Amino acid sequence: MYTFTTDVIVIGSGFAGLAAAIEAAGAGASVVVLEKLRAPGGNSAISDGGIAAPGTTYQENAGISDTPGLMYQDMIEAGEGLNYPELVKLITDRAKDVFLWSRDDLGVKYLDRVDIFGGHSVPRCYTPESISGADLIKGQLARLKEQQVPIRLGAYVKTLLQDEAGRVHGVGFLDGYRFGKPERGSEKTCFASKAVIVASGGFGSDVAFRQAQDPRLDDSLGSTNKRFATAEVLKDCLRIGANPVQLSRIQLGPWASPDEHGFGAGPLFGDYVVIPYGLMVDPATGSRFVNELSDRKKLADAMLSKERPVLGLADQTGVEVAGWDLSRSLKKGVVKTYPTLDELALDYQVDPVSLERTLHRFNQMLRTGHDADFQKPIMPKAAPLEKPPFYAMRLWPKVHYTMGGIQIDTSARVIHRDQHPIQGLYAAGEVTGGIHGACRLGSCAITECLVMGRIAGRNAAR
Ligand SMILES: Cc1cc2nc3c(=O)[nH]c(=O)nc-3n(C[C@H](O)[C@H](O)[C@H](O)COP(=O)(O)OP(=O)(O)OC[C@H]3O[C@@H](n4cnc5c(N)ncnc54)[C@H](O)[C@@H]3O)c2cc1C
Repeated sequence: MYTFTTDVIVIGSGFAGLAAAIEAAGAGASVVVLEKLRAPGGNSAISDGGIAAPGTTYQENAGISDTPGLMYQDMIEAGEGLNYPELVKLITDRAKDVFLWSRDDLGVKYLDRVDIFGGHSVPRCYTPESISGADLIKGQLARLKEQQVPIRLGAYVKTLLQDEAGRVHGVGFLDGYRFGKPERGSEKTCFASKAVIVASGGFGSDVAFRQAQDPRLDDSLGSTNKRFATAEVLKDCLRIGANPVQLSRIQLGPWASPDEHGFGAGPLFGDYVVIPYGLMVDPATGSRFVNELSDRKKLADAMLSKERPVLGLADQTGVEVAGWDLSRSLKKGVVKTYPTLDELALDYQVDPVSLERTLHRFNQMLRTGHDADFQKPIMPKAAPLEKPPFYAMRLWPKVHYTMGGIQIDTSARVIHRDQHPIQGLYAAGEVTGGIHGACRLGSCAITECLVMGRIAGRNAAR
């Protein structure tokens, strides 16, 4: 069987794996990245690329006061205290550094704006100009090219290999793999003289595995993830004794549309317009039912309790204040516009009188600056919804992110179920568990991938 040896093997070419590879190579190690797909980037490349960081000049210019401590508190609150505090502290302390690394070292151009997503107490999220994680992936790949780090595509890792002392010292993989056609690949082995880093992402599309963790998440529920987001490497980590953490904590994206597949175009309206500047309405009653700026878990739970899609609404002023180009979602018909509220109500079969009453009350509260019904924080630029056209989108949660995974420590070492580090094994990114607890806040995954990926790379190269 064909074998080769390197210092460090990285499994997966998303944000976490590429960050780890850059740091390991920068520390002088020889590195290979193994990626099962024919293109690098994983879910990272299809993400919005939004990254969270406190204490930036973008915030300062917008008059927003923020600290790592405040971001820490927000993450712990959304996580219902299930988060591993030392990991959250590390990530929030280093968030600004990795944001600046992505911009100044890797060349990502960010929009000159700061956004807020549900559960953050202040705006602290930065979006690339392209509204895509592909920019950061491109910057990471360019750096790895300079460093002459090979990325082997079509390399599907099947097994972690251990020596007699239990140290992870390599992987068995299928070379020439095509997604869904394992018989095409040929068996190969790669040995690592220093360490293996697992960065194989989440398991949002692995219906059997996710449903075993949370029986409600069957295949009737859509997912924002690509089909390759499966659990095989995670399961192999468990086989060799890695400790599973909070695997049943799976996030549903509450800003998704049931009228399109995958992530789609709708979330730009749902997450960036409705949540900060609009309102959500239960079509059965025509009433609001939740603080729209709640974290994703609270929002998704509230929606699921309605047992059918709810409506996200905004008006022309809200859309202008938010400042996003909604042409894709409008063209797809996922977001629709109406000259009057009555026409909107008719189309979605909502009682027009109740809807009018709800909007009237919501507008009154916007004027007073206080949401007496659901305590939604009122954004400084939020204005009463009065200017047509009125925008509407059906909202229904989709499987988005897996908070659970394998246990790591602050050195990114993988922890055995007997609570000692597994020698030679590091991990970073969505495959790890315990950082976000019950609920990940928007934009914190990328921050986490970069902080923990870089730590894993540096330590693996030692
Ligand atoms: C549509 C969408 C939008 C998002 N938007 C944001 C956002 O704006 N901000 C934010 O913070 N988070 C966002 N997220 C979440 C965030 O993008 C992910 O959590 C993060 O990118 C995961 O990075 P990763 O490196 O851990 O894994 P991934 O990027 O998924 O990479 C893992 C890689 O490992 C490979 N792999 C898996 N198994 C094997 C194997 N057996 N052998 C070899 N290779 C393997 C996969 O093919 C994949 O390429 C979004 C997620 C989605 C799905």
